[in-house]
Amino acid sequence: MSAQQPESEQRRVPRSNIYDRQERIEGWDQTKLENSRIAVVGTGLFANDALATLAGLGIGEIFVFGNERVNGKNSDEYLLFRSESGKSKSEELETILTEINPQLSIKGIHWDMSIASYVENIIPPDVNVIIDAANHPDTEVVLFNYGMNHGIPVINGSCTKRKGSLTALMPSQIQRQFKLKAGERFKINDVSITYLLTDYIHQPEDASTSSLISGHMADEVRKILMPLRKDEAVIEKPLYYDLNSPRRFVEHALIEPSERINHTDYSPQRILVIGAGSLGWNVVMNLASKFRDKKTEITVIDGDTVEEVNLNRQIIYWDCVGQKKALALEQKVRDIYHKKGLVSGIDSWFNEDFKFSDGKFPDLVMDCTDSFKSREAINNYAVKNRLPLISGATSYSAARVLTYVPGRTSCMNCLLDINKKADDERAAASCAHAPEPSVIISNRIGAGLMMGEADMFFAGQPYNGLVIYDSFAPARLGLMPISSVCDCHKKKRG
Ligand SMILES: [Zn+2]
Repeated sequence: MSAQQPESEQRRVPRSNIYDRQERIEGWDQTKLENSRIAVVGTGLFANDALATLAGLGIGEIFVFGNERVNGKNSDEYLLFRSESGKSKSEELETILTEINPQLSIKGIHWDMSIASYVENIIPPDVNVIIDAANHPDTEVVLFNYGMNHGIPVINGSCTKRKGSLTALMPSQIQRQFKLKAGERFKINDVSITYLLTDYIHQPEDASTSSLISGHMADEVRKILMPLRKDEAVIEKPLYYDLNSPRRFVEHALIEPSERINHTDYSPQRILVIGAGSLGWNVVMNLASKFRDKKTEITVIDGDTVEEVNLNRQIIYWDCVGQKKALALEQKVRDIYHKKGLVSGIDSWFNEDFKFSDGKFPDLVMDCTDSFKSREAINNYAVKNRLPLISGATSYSAARVLTYVPGRTSCMNCLLDINKKADDERAAASCAHAPEPSVIISNRIGAGLMMGEADMFFAGQPYNGLVIYDSFAPARLGLMPISSVCDCHKKKRG
């Protein structure tokens, strides 16, 4: 690239292999995603997450609809961090998303989407999916009708503090369920109670639940556009995630008072995030959002450098190829939240002897690494120093999260035999092996679940077992409890 080239042209230089890691997934066909068109309605935090995720996946054509303007008040709308007050959010989102993934065609359309006749005239009738990320009751009803009458699936996601919901409305399913005859127009009253997420209206959106729901939403979109298995189907029932219940995944929006968890506000002094990769960047951004007005210090440690092949999952580094991840992430958080010291990056690899410069330990460790060797070291660190630990791990189709609290739950080794797996990994290290297939979806979900379990830990309800997402399981999300609590933290170490 020549130095004289205008900046906009430099940004549009096509990237060669950003989809490499997801194209390694069995059955993946990137051209199906590249040939798809999606309408996203909404421009708030959840819409930011949804759009960034779809851009990472490589959806060829994305329309962004909304009539809100930048007001400089919501830093959680991180894609708009450079936008001046008064500008159209949907048009600004077009600009930044085009920078994040220059291979896509993104169109931001400043338009009121709460009136049926407006929507009829503006959404292209041949979009493959409509995403309702607007959290507006009129818009919900209008989009729902539009989708059903034009045969377009509508996916509706909503999130607020400790709560999130997702519905996937497939026209054929709805037709069957409500026994509509061919050509019979669908009536909103038939389904409003079941499918519309009215209890989120006027509730502020939340970064942690947004990660989970936007990731899950993207997986349902992927299933519609590019099923990986013959029998893959979109979720039939609405999903309710609610951390006010110990069950976490509940059947309906209401929770019995008897099972309600009492969450109180908390602000730990120090949180250590290990890994600034596919899970870590998202966890750090969520922590920054959560603690931006508190005195909590978030430290992220990672010795890795941003590469082009990371960009399908680690979208926050879109303009950071060649930079050190931990430092780039520190800078991004400062750019977005305008707060120095909220996140500090350490450019090195974690080891078991880690302490802060004043000799102290973190109040919570969050493991966002991707090898058994690193997890072994992190588990040893937590056991030896009696530190609470939340560990996340993902595959291309699944995510799992566990919480270790000494004396309350079992450690990672007792639960998952991590030390043995680390030995196997070391033994296999001499053989050349291909990189693991990986995609943004499960990492978004894993990061959201980790944040949720951090909330549960601070509410005195650490989960003993695994919290799981499985793309191929009908329920997707669930709990796998264990009854034993280990006493590794009491053992003498040789
Ligand atoms: Zn143990």
